[in-house]
Amino acid sequence: MNSLNFKDFNLSQDILESIEKLGYKNPSEVQEKVIPLILSDKDLVVKAQTGSGKTAAFAIPICEKIELQEKYPQVLILSPTRELALQIKDDFSNIGRFKRIRSAAIYGKEPISLQINTLKQRIHVVSGTPGRVMDHIERGTLSLGKIKYLVIDEADEMLNMGFIGQVTEIIKKLPTKRLTLLFSATIPTEILKLCDSYMNNPVSIDIQSKNSTADRIEQTYYEVLVNEKFNLLNKVIYTNLPESAIIFCRTKANVDSLVSEMKNEGYSCAALHGGMLQTERTEVINSFKRGDFMFLVATDVAARGIDVDNITHVINYDIPMEKESYVHRIGRTGRAGNTGFAITFVSPREYRFLKEIEEYFRFEINEGKIPSLEDVEKGKKLFAEKARLKPKPKKSKSKELNKEITKIYIGAGKKKKIRPGDIAGTVSSIDGINPEDIGIIEIQDNFSYVDIFSGKGTLVLEALKHKTIKGKTVRVAIAKK
Ligand code: AMP
Repeated sequence: MNSLNFKDFNLSQDILESIEKLGYKNPSEVQEKVIPLILSDKDLVVKAQTGSGKTAAFAIPICEKIELQEKYPQVLILSPTRELALQIKDDFSNIGRFKRIRSAAIYGKEPISLQINTLKQRIHVVSGTPGRVMDHIERGTLSLGKIKYLVIDEADEMLNMGFIGQVTEIIKKLPTKRLTLLFSATIPTEILKLCDSYMNNPVSIDIQSKNSTADRIEQTYYEVLVNEKFNLLNKVIYTNLPESAIIFCRTKANVDSLVSEMKNEGYSCAALHGGMLQTERTEVINSFKRGDFMFLVATDVAARGIDVDNITHVINYDIPMEKESYVHRIGRTGRAGNTGFAITFVSPREYRFLKEIEEYFRFEINEGKIPSLEDVEKGKKLFAEKARLKPKPKKSKSKELNKEITKIYIGAGKKKKIRPGDIAGTVSSIDGINPEDIGIIEIQDNFSYVDIFSGKGTLVLEALKHKTIKGKTVRVAIAKK
């Protein structure tokens, strides 16, 4: 068993405190290998699957090394999807919370003006998708001059999605004196070429074997005619009794039609695909994370990189045509030391895709036995009983971290010439408040926010009602989420 402790990496107290509050007890294998190397400034090529803890493996040492006083971004992370970009940003915000590290996510489909405003502030970490990052670079709204760390995450996915050209263009614009870290589940030749051209003697790290996909996830397939799929889905659900599952379809239209069929049947489910607005997508993911519904029906593009705890089953209602996509999809279950089930429906015409997947990844997917009518009936009763019970709300990882943090809204900002120092000055003049209790201060045109740590939010809020900031009385309130 792993006996190494995060303290062994000589991390500062601010970072250790966040790690502890996130509930990470011991470093995972990838963290054990990667953290010391990043701390000693080595370029890395890391072969690791999602679910191995790879985001924290780079976020922890980078947060440790960030220079807080630097005004321009120091870290750029490129990843293939908006969801992943957002999740990486959240991971940096969580790990860097007590150090007051500020991060931003920039991705398509969100109004660019909002992002431009965010990028005007002091931001240490920028996490984005290649297209939108390029867009900001071309507009001159993302400063690259101080970038010291470049992370290319899920490089193989970026290759599959045709983003590698853009990634290369971005790399060419970065300062050459930097650390480059590349993470990928597989390392195809094109990725190796990229590493050869743009990295400085990278150390290769391969994380696999004992926790391989095949060990963590029990995989089965069913051969089924297209018009029999829904019938089979019911049988599979009743005999497997998933706690929480993602069902993948090939197209948006398939997702929408399956969701309506499932709703008719009484399942608690929701759709997620690229045709939805970003705000809707984020809402659905958050609601799924909270455990509000049982089945997330999704296309590949929407679900890549999603990190939701305790997904017991992944069902490929339509088998993916891209082999890599299979591994990404099933990797949504069996995370963080859990085991999971992956069930794939294969129509006779799609059989060759299944064979390709098996050959490429060298694992065997067993053929499932169609459940008997009796088992289905029995399961249906159990399922109905379970569904009557309220779904168990899932615990949010950052809840513990955020418990003692209050975000306070202050009704004055840039237009009233308020600066972070003005807010910090007033807040620290409150009896019982130390500088360590004050977190990130964010100044917008007409309002500002300040994070207060250590459960002292109410104390600060009450005191601010009777104080002035830069000689002005201001409206204060607890910030809306
Ligand atoms: P990733 O591979 O980055 O997608 O992370 C997989 C999951 O593991 C995420 O939910 C992380 O929050 C979680 N995680 C990362 N590091 C640790 C750790 N040392 N202990 C427990 N959970 C972790």
